[in-house]
Amino acid sequence: MASETPAVALDGVTRRYGDTTALKGVSLSVREGEFFTLVGPSGCGKTTTLRLLAGFETPTHGTVRFDGESVAGVPPEARDVGVVFQNYALFPHMSVGENVAYGLRFTDPPGGVSRDERVSTLLELVDLAGAEERDPDTLSGGQQQRVAMARALAPGPDLLLLDEPMSALDAKLRERLRVQVREIQRELGITTVYVTHDQEEALAVSDRVAVVRDGHIEQVGTPREIYREPATRFVASFIGDNNVLSGEVTDVGVGADGPAATVDVGGESLGVGLDSRDGVAVGDRLTFCLRPERLSLSGGETTLSATVTSTEFLGETTRAHLDWGGETLRLRTTDPPDGDVVVGFDPADAHVVAVER
Ligand code: ATP
Repeated sequence: MASETPAVALDGVTRRYGDTTALKGVSLSVREGEFFTLVGPSGCGKTTTLRLLAGFETPTHGTVRFDGESVAGVPPEARDVGVVFQNYALFPHMSVGENVAYGLRFTDPPGGVSRDERVSTLLELVDLAGAEERDPDTLSGGQQQRVAMARALAPGPDLLLLDEPMSALDAKLRERLRVQVREIQRELGITTVYVTHDQEEALAVSDRVAVVRDGHIEQVGTPREIYREPATRFVASFIGDNNVLSGEVTDVGVGADGPAATVDVGGESLGVGLDSRDGVAVGDRLTFCLRPERLSLSGGETTLSATVTSTEFLGETTRAHLDWGGETLRLRTTDPPDGDVVVGFDPADAHVVAVER
């Protein structure tokens, strides 16, 4: 069915720069109207992916498709794509209105309206109604970034590409702007690919997230899936705070909440809930993660004795660092702990990320 054709797809895309392979056979698809985020550490290939979509780069191998059709050879200005980069780069010698109108240099405004009308509609959309005559230098960083977004959206593109658009802004402004960006995206229903190295931002704004590492994709999923069911050790540690532990399976049985393994971690036996897909057997080496908020000072089915080494007051909660036989564990709680503690967790809250035979 046509509606199931992804709005954007990468099909086995590799991009090399001399000896560097920025992307290693990446395949992914973005649905129509989706807010899709690429998140990963610096240098993992996020910007390269965006540049391939914009048409500023070409794949060394593989195919980029829009609505199922290859865009090989289609120049950036013919791709119906709006792009906003980190350094929003408004023209300082042009007014805000002229900057937005610059987005219409290759096309007429959609819907048969005049340029002035289009500019005014876009400025309204980004919450800067009536700012046409203003000088970009008189705007805050967040406002300038919204003008850059209005400029990118002016021709009515099918696809919006945002590359770290908030990274030059302070934390408070970033949070506010990301809500605005999300609202604008929803209002227009425009397919959007967003790049950030900030995992919290990725979880907060996206319909789906691709975690990118070293030129390949580790996992694609909804923010909830990525957070709750990280597929790899890397995703478990990159997304949010996590305790990642490994040990040998000494028993597989049924616990209070279903199948569970007993895992020997540093001489202590811990319970880890299993999914039927995990296929775990005695003798396997199991890696699992446990969110700090799932460790509790009031016990649980599995308990362990540890010592508090430091605490960080975070406002609503406190993060405690615990020493557990040389292993550091993090715990989030509302009551700051101290000294020797017994912490517990429910095996069902432990999530298996890898099994080695
Ligand atoms: P950041 O978050 O730091 O912007 P990124 O995830 O966007 O990083 P890319 O900019 O896509 O990463 O770069 C991926 C890899 O490709 C890096 O090793 C980078 O040095 C390399 N690379 C990117 N563009 C070029 C280029 N034009 N010439 C040579 N190497 C490049």
